[in-house]
Amino acid sequence: MIYTRNKLKDGTVVCSPVTAGNTYTRCAECGKEIPIDLRELIFARAENPYGTDINCAECTDKMMRMSDISFDAVARLVDALDDLGYSLVIGELFGDFDIEDVRELIPEECELFVDDLLGKVLEVRHDGE
Ligand SMILES: [Zn+2]
Repeated sequence: MIYTRNKLKDGTVVCSPVTAGNTYTRCAECGKEIPIDLRELIFARAENPYGTDINCAECTDKMMRMSDISFDAVARLVDALDDLGYSLVIGELFGDFDIEDVRELIPEECELFVDDLLGKVLEVRHDGE
């Protein structure tokens, strides 16, 4: 049996067994208390199982989905604008971000890329008027 030993304020020592069902951490994203399985944790994060950031299932899911959708959506947006005749703008932006394909963007850059892209498209549209 593995157990934790904690000394209370009055000096009493409390030992609690560590089981798969009583080990918890807080999600690094939303702060929700989540049960963790030490076996999984130790296998997955062998370097430092005690000081690692864990996310709950929902936050992990949200993050995965966000990066997936962003890339596809941004790629579609770029394709559509390319078809509409904005290939020059897109080429310029790819140069700014030092990429040749939308998928080379890191997830954090996606939003910035879309902002810049739409900004430049609007600029071009106004110039043409
Ligand atoms: Zn969370």
